[in-house]
Amino acid sequence: MTDPLILFGGTFDPVHLGHIHGARTVSGLFGGARVELMPNAQPPHREQPGAGAQDRLAMLQLACRDDPQLAVNDWELTRPGPSWTRLTLEHFRGLIGQRPLVLVIGADSLASFQHWRDWQQFPSLCHLAVLPRPGAGAPAPEVLAAFPEASLGALRARPAGLRLMLAEPFVDVSATMIRETLAEDGECDVLDRQVLDHIRRHGLYNVRQDAAGQTPGDTRHHRTRNQNGDA
Ligand code: ATP
Repeated sequence: MTDPLILFGGTFDPVHLGHIHGARTVSGLFGGARVELMPNAQPPHREQPGAGAQDRLAMLQLACRDDPQLAVNDWELTRPGPSWTRLTLEHFRGLIGQRPLVLVIGADSLASFQHWRDWQQFPSLCHLAVLPRPGAGAPAPEVLAAFPEASLGALRARPAGLRLMLAEPFVDVSATMIRETLAEDGECDVLDRQVLDHIRRHGLYNVRQDAAGQTPGDTRHHRTRNQNGDA
């Protein structure tokens, strides 16, 4: 069976442990299929990013550097205007024919999915793989109905229209929290070491510079919590 095309879109401002562990987990579930992390140019649903597109792209490349299961796809950055997900999905659907296309999102994104532009067209374009996320609200019933929950095998057997709910990883981190921590402390232990170095070198996110030089953390060695929060 051919591998699905797996896209994980986001602002990645900056990319963090929650994104990377989630992407690795999805890849593992699909037998090591590559997950393509795709930074958006102008996110339509939120305020504009703190870091520019090229910095967000560079940080993603650093975070994915040693992991053959992860790739960075800059397609949305090459398009003018806002990054509407429907256009991205249509583009890749046109390239892959009937091969399954899986869009990875966090549970918080699923909870607001009914506000995404043209979301009703998504079931004909992609599956959803939903990462658990602390504090995520309840999804709208119409979204759940449009994307029926299904098994991994079912997603592999059809091009689009189903929803896979992951139980793990359950990583309690957000880019918002990281930006605040960097401005206050200049430190952050939930970023890849080279991503933190990039932030410091380029003075992103108002990082407190006097803390620079301390040993930054590496995502590979940090704890994640399981669904019960006790691992
Ligand atoms: P911000 O705090 O700035 O909103 P974020 O941490 O949510 O950023 P995004 O780049 O906006 O990061 O997220 C891209 C996608 O990754 C979204 O679908 C989001 O739900 C998901 N995601 C982000 N962080 C996590 C996490 N810790 N666990 C699971 N999914 C996550």
